[in-house]
Amino acid sequence: MEKKSKQTFFVTTPIYYVNDVPHIGHAYTTIIADALARHNRLAGREVFFLTGTDEHGQKIEKAAAERGITPIELADSVVTRTQNLWQALDISQDFFVRTTMPFHEKGVQEIFRRMLAKGDIYKGEYKGWYCVSDEAFLPDDAPIGKDGAKICPDCGRAAVVLAEPTYFFRLSAYQQKLLDHFEAHPDFVRPPSRMNEVASFVRGGLRDISITRTTVKWGVPVPDDPAHTIYVWFDALHNYITALGWDWNRERFEKFWPASLHLMGKDILRFHAVYWPAFLMASGFALPDCIFGHGWWLKDEAKMSKSLGNVLDPYLIINTLGPDPLRYFLLREIPIGLDGNFSHEGFIHRVNSDLANDFGNLVHRTLNMVQQYFGGTIGEPAAEEAQDAALRAAFESARTAVLAHYEDYAPAKALEELWAFIGLANKYLADNAPWKLAKDPALRGRLARVLWQAAAAIRGSSHLAAPVMPGSARRIWDLLGETRSPLDVLYADFRFDDLDPARPMKPPVPLFPRIDLKEFLAGPAAVPPAAERPAEPKKPPKETTMDIITYEEFKKLDLRVGLVLKAERVEGATRLLKLQIDLGGEQRQIVAGVAETYAPEDLVGKRFTVIANLKPAVIRGVESQGMLLAGIRDGKAFIPFFEGDIPAGSKVQ
Ligand SMILES: [Zn+2]
Repeated sequence: MEKKSKQTFFVTTPIYYVNDVPHIGHAYTTIIADALARHNRLAGREVFFLTGTDEHGQKIEKAAAERGITPIELADSVVTRTQNLWQALDISQDFFVRTTMPFHEKGVQEIFRRMLAKGDIYKGEYKGWYCVSDEAFLPDDAPIGKDGAKICPDCGRAAVVLAEPTYFFRLSAYQQKLLDHFEAHPDFVRPPSRMNEVASFVRGGLRDISITRTTVKWGVPVPDDPAHTIYVWFDALHNYITALGWDWNRERFEKFWPASLHLMGKDILRFHAVYWPAFLMASGFALPDCIFGHGWWLKDEAKMSKSLGNVLDPYLIINTLGPDPLRYFLLREIPIGLDGNFSHEGFIHRVNSDLANDFGNLVHRTLNMVQQYFGGTIGEPAAEEAQDAALRAAFESARTAVLAHYEDYAPAKALEELWAFIGLANKYLADNAPWKLAKDPALRGRLARVLWQAAAAIRGSSHLAAPVMPGSARRIWDLLGETRSPLDVLYADFRFDDLDPARPMKPPVPLFPRIDLKEFLAGPAAVPPAAERPAEPKKPPKETTMDIITYEEFKKLDLRVGLVLKAERVEGATRLLKLQIDLGGEQRQIVAGVAETYAPEDLVGKRFTVIANLKPAVIRGVESQGMLLAGIRDGKAFIPFFEGDIPAGSKVQ
């Protein structure tokens, strides 16, 4: 276990592609990296935590052109949103790299130049099926579609034939070297199942890969041959060394390279576990210690993606609850190698049970009794008894296990272990019943001991939870009268009994309020469609005060013909159907309160009017991206359908 002896820790997230706004998937990777960075800082290592954005390539060029802005304007706006989200999630990166930064472009060109001189890059011609969307040539075994064009196995789109002079990277020369490295470092790729996948991919044979494009303008130009730009993956992967300071901060580079941990979603594991180490070998750099491909968060068992319209907006949670419940849930619910299913019910259950009940109540009750019985200052506790010593010993052994799990990149197990201890602390309080001790003045010293012991357990638990819940840990230490932040006290300097009983503690404040599912889902961001709102109290219609709108105002409504592709019930909601609607070249998901009038199968193939530019809302945990128009009688919805086959997406006016 090489990493354990290292006194530095360099952790990276992938740099996120700016063709999409950051969502829960990006947040997940970044939260894992943040928790492990914070853990390593507390372990006394010098840490460099790198994240950032990938800003070049054809997709960015296209997405910017569609919006009528320049690629850098698009990148700037997404970078701002990404950085704001990281701040809202309490992410502690040491550097935020953008691939449009001059040092990066210069560094990539310099590396390219060296590989070219060495013969690991050479010029040739490439002709093949090319997926424009993924900016990649298709593998040989890609299937052929109806019109004779090959179909991209990654995105399902039809590919085009592309022939161009190109520079190749001599990947074939690294097949055996990679296999030797895998053999010698079985933890190079984690989890182990992915190590096997990667090794068998490499054993299957590696061909040289094209690493430049003449079709893309928005990229790093090939040195001395500016008709070519460097392929976005070659460009992006090198951020891990350019941002560290390879050719501009040599001292930092020497200190931190090779990386301890590259984290990423499993979908981009191959780029990191095959191409990246081959590039590094070609340039003569040492290889990273570990490449960890984590699982995906699914929603309703489907991968979250913009095209499916089931992306969870992290702000829906952060705005109401702050970052820590989300951070805790994502890291506690599943081990980082597996896929998890995100449901609001599952999230709320976890937060209520672990945070509000187990931990929040322990803190609240303890601080409350310290106020009630001692006015905030415990004073002199009586001598430690056997059960007090047992709680202390349980803490020490939990702590050893928690830290070992963090070291092993297993925060879920670390938190499981920690919460088992929090359970013991709750039991300690219940067994020792301070509320009974408080009735006998002769037992005051014992009462002080029990409350001090519980407070020390809370302080220790918060310290161990700090990598995952930094804000809550800070607040709890402050409530306990600690003047330091738990993030400034190294594990090595932490003592269980380092809590001064003569120092005043503060009255409890709500740390993790219980969440009510209904209220949570009906939060400020949720605007239910009319048919789902509770019936308005009966009032005489006030026609005289009805607002008159102008035609200009009416024109702001984007009314379109929607065609139902798919309809299903929303679990637990008798009035709701979830509809997939074709709006002509665009698919939308709409949640509509029409289940009392229509069965799902009645609606498939039907056309009706949809308000296409209504602000999206989350209804019962399902995102609704529009609203259909219906007549309402006794709370039931009746939809006016179009006769004939007017095309989906046609304007309604
Ligand atoms: Zn594709």
